[in-house]
Amino acid sequence: MSVSNIQMPQYNPLESMMIRFNEAARILGLDEQFATVLKAPDKVVIVNIPVTMDDGTIRVFEGYRVIHSVHLGPSKGGIRYSMDVHLDEVKALAAWMTWKCAVVNIPYGGAKGGIKCDPRSMSRGELERLTRGYTLAMKDVFGEDSDIPAPDMGTGQQEMAWILDEYSKIRGHNSWGVVTGKPLVMGGSLGRVEATGRGVMVSARSAMARLGIKPTEATCVVQGFGNVGSISAKLIEELGVKIVGISDISGGYYNPGGIDIQSALSYVANSETRSLEGFAGGSKVSNSELLTLPCDVLVPAAMEDQITPENAHLIKAKLIVEGANGPTTAQADPILNEKGILVVPDILANAGGVTVSYFEWVQNRLGYYWTEERVHRRADRVMKQAFDNVFATAEKYKTSMRIAAYIVALDKVGSTLKLRGSF
Ligand code: GLU
Repeated sequence: MSVSNIQMPQYNPLESMMIRFNEAARILGLDEQFATVLKAPDKVVIVNIPVTMDDGTIRVFEGYRVIHSVHLGPSKGGIRYSMDVHLDEVKALAAWMTWKCAVVNIPYGGAKGGIKCDPRSMSRGELERLTRGYTLAMKDVFGEDSDIPAPDMGTGQQEMAWILDEYSKIRGHNSWGVVTGKPLVMGGSLGRVEATGRGVMVSARSAMARLGIKPTEATCVVQGFGNVGSISAKLIEELGVKIVGISDISGGYYNPGGIDIQSALSYVANSETRSLEGFAGGSKVSNSELLTLPCDVLVPAAMEDQITPENAHLIKAKLIVEGANGPTTAQADPILNEKGILVVPDILANAGGVTVSYFEWVQNRLGYYWTEERVHRRADRVMKQAFDNVFATAEKYKTSMRIAAYIVALDKVGSTLKLRGSF
């Protein structure tokens, strides 16, 4: 049979979100009418952005911004540049931002943006025109008290700098708090770049302690070597854990003796392809083999729908800490639970990023900037408290940490909705 004849199952992140939502709402006894309100995003904006390419042709890119909820505060969430961006994915990611902010107890609602494009194949000038075009199209959506974007897959500090500049030009004054994840010299926060990876490390450390796993005797595999994966790997290694597998778009690398993460980081920084392609610190494995390697801790930090019913039963890790958003499909949850694997879910494990985004926004509004030590200390405390709260909720309701995290979030957003009323 040719490859094209094989029917690969299709997973939908929005469906995965809904399945967990329904389960948590049932356990919590959430009023069905409130559940109906919270399932639907507040606002969906779709724009077409014409961009002059370097060769003089004009291309039109489709961009999205989904505002899921503003019940707890202005909506917050990153902007993703990828060819795989689609509306259901952005809707799921926006809802996850609402739950994530509620789980770590920061005063934000949830949103997400995306542009269907391949940033790796675009020049700097093309990316700048695209980002400015998107900002102009979203000028009435973005705002430091209404909707605050940030980096996500395929975007980083430079895109945030362009958004700040374009938005400030439109408003006629610098609006520092309209976007987070900015470069330091433009009102960014110390500690923001490593914040998500650091939160993943804090979650892994807390979970290992609960499971009685000694970091110095443990092994870990990290899928993805972008901002989240590489920094998670580096900081988990600093706990004394041996990182035996890493991966990126070029494939997976396995070394049971341990991979030196600093040399992998230097390799990527100096490589022409900006990837691990040709990295000699481990033997080559496929991305699917990587997830099922023998290890104690698995950190999926690449993208959605990586752990599925097709591979969940083959996973050997005792602990999964989700650095990415939605790396596990809802259909894989019962398999992992059955195997007794502790899963620290995305809406808790990767919330360190948005937590420090919140600190950045607070600093922008005060015009008073914190030391790196203060940012780390406060973010670590937020992550540790959120972990303990979700863990205790899981014990109370005799459920997984994933469903417990949804329970914490739905309880908070649901009761706010009830108090606010206004239907
Ligand atoms: N994109 C990141 C996330 O998924 C950060 C969002 C933010 O800082 O607003 O959590």
